[in-house]
Amino acid sequence: MALGDRWSREATEDIQRRILDWYSVSRRQLPWRDDTDPYHILVSEMMLQQTGVGRVGPIYRRFIDLFPTFAALAEAPRQDVLRAWAGTGYNRRAIHLHECARIVCRDHDGRLPNDPAILARLPGLGPYTVAAVLSFAFHQDVATVDTNIRRVLGRSSGKPDADERELRELATRLLPRGRASDWNQALMDLGATICLASNPRCSICPVREICASALDVDALTRAPARRVAERQEPYLGSRRFYRGRIVAILRDLPSGKLVSAGDLLTRIKPDATAADQPWLDEIMRGLAADGLASIDTSQGDARFGAPT
Ligand code: SF4
Repeated sequence: MALGDRWSREATEDIQRRILDWYSVSRRQLPWRDDTDPYHILVSEMMLQQTGVGRVGPIYRRFIDLFPTFAALAEAPRQDVLRAWAGTGYNRRAIHLHECARIVCRDHDGRLPNDPAILARLPGLGPYTVAAVLSFAFHQDVATVDTNIRRVLGRSSGKPDADERELRELATRLLPRGRASDWNQALMDLGATICLASNPRCSICPVREICASALDVDALTRAPARRVAERQEPYLGSRRFYRGRIVAILRDLPSGKLVSAGDLLTRIKPDATAADQPWLDEIMRGLAADGLASIDTSQGDARFGAPT
């Protein structure tokens, strides 16, 4: 039985009405909300991949001020893009966005295409980001499924461990035609403010009377939340930690300046020894391959700089 089979057509319309009514009075005020400019939508969605709304808000505004169009971003030096991206983490997303802007300007006359197959070929755009762009910027009837929506749909349908295919089917089935943008954002807001991962606020939830998990939410949420926490690796001292420190140092170098491996090692790891050199070399090769650093060997020993 499909997840949505527990709801009749009338029940589905009831859910849609409850959630859209709630959204009309309770929605979050976000800098990119009500903005349908495809460039703005793409920037905000790329920033929001794995970074919270509160942190993204001011960085998004600054980024749009510095690079107001695809053309402005495409023409900017990569080092400037990485500087403007500082604070969101995950620098590869900045590289992907920069590449997207260059492709959009080179191949699509500076306008983001509204074809899902073309969007899916752009760097850094997975199924969620493609769906978000199509529904928020182009008003297509496409359902988005992010972490918050996954939780709301899983719980309300009575199957919090539903797989991705089941949730996508349910999301598509519930989508009110012609209201995809509002609907997708309403589900996101519901997951972010009411149907929280821990301690969901069922007593004030607009769908509490018809939610399959409203009365049993403790049992449904505590164990998965704990398992996720147990799986998380410590950030401090991790490979990602050192990559982030190196990108920050290179990003802030004066334009064209290079640093030696020894200088870099001393700055990121004061207790480093010669034995750490292969470790640094491997990290630098990875950063260069990801477009986050440049390596210059023209004078013998490798020196490192911001990406060009
Ligand atoms: S009633 Fe509770 S579990 Fe169900 S959707 Fe609302 S907040 Fe989530």
